[in-house]
Amino acid sequence: MKQTNLSVFIPHIGCPHRCSFCDQKSISGAAKAPAADEVWELLTQQAEHLNDIGAKAEIAFFGGSFTAIPRGYMTELLEAAARGVRELGAYNGIRCSTRPDCISAEITDILREYGVTAVELGAQSMSDEVLAANERGHTSEDVRRASELIKQSGIRLGLQMMTGLYKDSAEAVMYTAREFIRLAPETVRIYPTVILKGTRLGELYERGEYRSFGFEETVELCAKLLRMFGRNDIAVIRMGLHASAEVERDMLGGVYHPAFRELCESRIMLEDITARLEGLPKGEYTVLTDKRNISRLVGQRRGNIAVLEKAGYKIKVGEQAGAYLEVVPKTEI
Ligand code: SF4
Repeated sequence: MKQTNLSVFIPHIGCPHRCSFCDQKSISGAAKAPAADEVWELLTQQAEHLNDIGAKAEIAFFGGSFTAIPRGYMTELLEAAARGVRELGAYNGIRCSTRPDCISAEITDILREYGVTAVELGAQSMSDEVLAANERGHTSEDVRRASELIKQSGIRLGLQMMTGLYKDSAEAVMYTAREFIRLAPETVRIYPTVILKGTRLGELYERGEYRSFGFEETVELCAKLLRMFGRNDIAVIRMGLHASAEVERDMLGGVYHPAFRELCESRIMLEDITARLEGLPKGEYTVLTDKRNISRLVGQRRGNIAVLEKAGYKIKVGEQAGAYLEVVPKTEI
């Protein structure tokens, strides 16, 4: 059974802070807030399609600060979603994203009452210096407190982090990842910073006061994060912003690539094959791997193969079902 999300975008009504990286055009009401009956209509339309393809979806209220929108409006939306889960057969959960300082025991009680199954917190960093420099308006302690409240209520926890914010460092990113692991969320999303026109980061960038991390550095760092979360059984469900013409149009700097995750996975494979080849005589080898790993092993534009060749290893890639990296010397082929 295919599992997916049906996203309902809630613009940032009542968003209490202006974060350095956030595009204010989208906040200031470019998108219309859907009424509860419009959400119901969307759910009924999409249920037909989901039932046709035999998929189930969680109804996902995304857009930033779901629990900070006016209470009456929030509960109307939740009621429409809860009815969708009860009556339409295609939905098996409700999730929302929100700010860490917009969670309380009262809020988690309401969310539970309507059957919310997962809450994602936009934590962005666990460094208080980075949070303050990016005008987040909350601290790392808010993230810890909100995470505990969500978990205690039995709702699944998701955490979102960014890399390369103003005043960020590789150490602060690794600290954020370690703190996330201590909080034991079920899922994580990782977003390298994209510097957009019209934002505070955009101004800093244009004045030459801020540059974010470089592309290579970000791939290396995010590959490490992917490995760390994987080892701790935390699913990384998104890496990098979704491909978007608007982002490409409004981007001044930072890191954006439509296949960012693939690049990180490919970096992990390069590190792993390098470790396996270490100590073996330079020369020709065949590396066998499962079909689904081949493009990651080869790398974008055969980048991994080129790196290995430069190190003295001429690699041919072969297919073997279920294999990760089986190194076979040429003489044994
Ligand atoms: S990132 Fe979230 S909290 Fe910050 S300004 Fe944007 S919508 Fe508001």
